[in-house]
Amino acid sequence: MPVVTEEAIVLTRYPFRERSAVVVLLTRHRGVIRALARQAKGKAGGGSALEPLAQVTVTLYLSPRRELATVNEVELRHSCMALAGRPAAWAAALVAAELALEFCPPGTSQEALFRLLERTVAWLEQGVEPRVVVGYALLWTLKLAGVLPDPSTCARCRTPLAEEQLVFVPTEGFCCAGHGAAGVSLSLASISFLHQALRRPADRLTAVPGPELVGLLRSLAQQFLEKPLRSLPVFERLQGATPGPC
Ligand SMILES: [Zn+2]
Repeated sequence: MPVVTEEAIVLTRYPFRERSAVVVLLTRHRGVIRALARQAKGKAGGGSALEPLAQVTVTLYLSPRRELATVNEVELRHSCMALAGRPAAWAAALVAAELALEFCPPGTSQEALFRLLERTVAWLEQGVEPRVVVGYALLWTLKLAGVLPDPSTCARCRTPLAEEQLVFVPTEGFCCAGHGAAGVSLSLASISFLHQALRRPADRLTAVPGPELVGLLRSLAQQFLEKPLRSLPVFERLQGATPGPC
C-alpha cells in the first residue's frame, strides 16, 4: 500500500462506526482525499488534530482498491479553533472550505485552491471583514475553475467596459449598458471590489462587495455545481444578525 506524507487542510469530518471518523482533506499536491482516522484507545490527541480547518501534515496509506485512505500519523501545524469564537468569521471559513471541496474534482491536484483556502483562513484570523473574504473566495474559486466571465470587455460586442458601469446578464456575462438591458447593474462598491480583488490580496482591499455581486457569484457557482452551496445561507444569516453598513 503506498504511503504518502502531505500538507493538508481538514475540510470536514464526520463520525464513522465506533471510535472512528472520516476526514475530508484538501492536500497541497493530491487534491481532495477522504480518509479514515481511527482514534487510538485512551489517546485523545490524534483526533483533535483533525478538527475542521486544521492545517496538518498527515501520513496516509492509499489503497488502490478502496475509496478511503487511512490516516497513519497526523501532526498539527495550525489549529483554527481561535476562529470558532467569532461566528461570522468561522462561517466564512466554512464557505471557503465548501468551495474547495466542491470545486476540486476527485483525483485532481489543485494547488491554487489549497493556497486560496490557506490564505482565506489567515485573512480571517487577521481580522479581515468576513464579507470581503467570502466575496474574494467566491470570485477566485470561480476564476480558477474557469467559470468567471471576463469583467473587462462586453460579452456581446467586445468593447472595453467602463469601470463605472457594469451590467451582469446571467446567460451572457458582463455587458455594456447597451447590451445589458436584461441584466443586473452592479453597484459602484461591487465594481471596485471586483476590480481590486482580481489584482490584490484580500487584506489589501478597500471595497466591500454588495449583495447583488455576491448573489451573482453564488448563482454562477450553483449553475456550475448544479446544486446550491450549503454554507452560504448560514454565513448570510449570521451577517444579517450583525448590524453593519449596508
Ligand atoms: Zn456591448
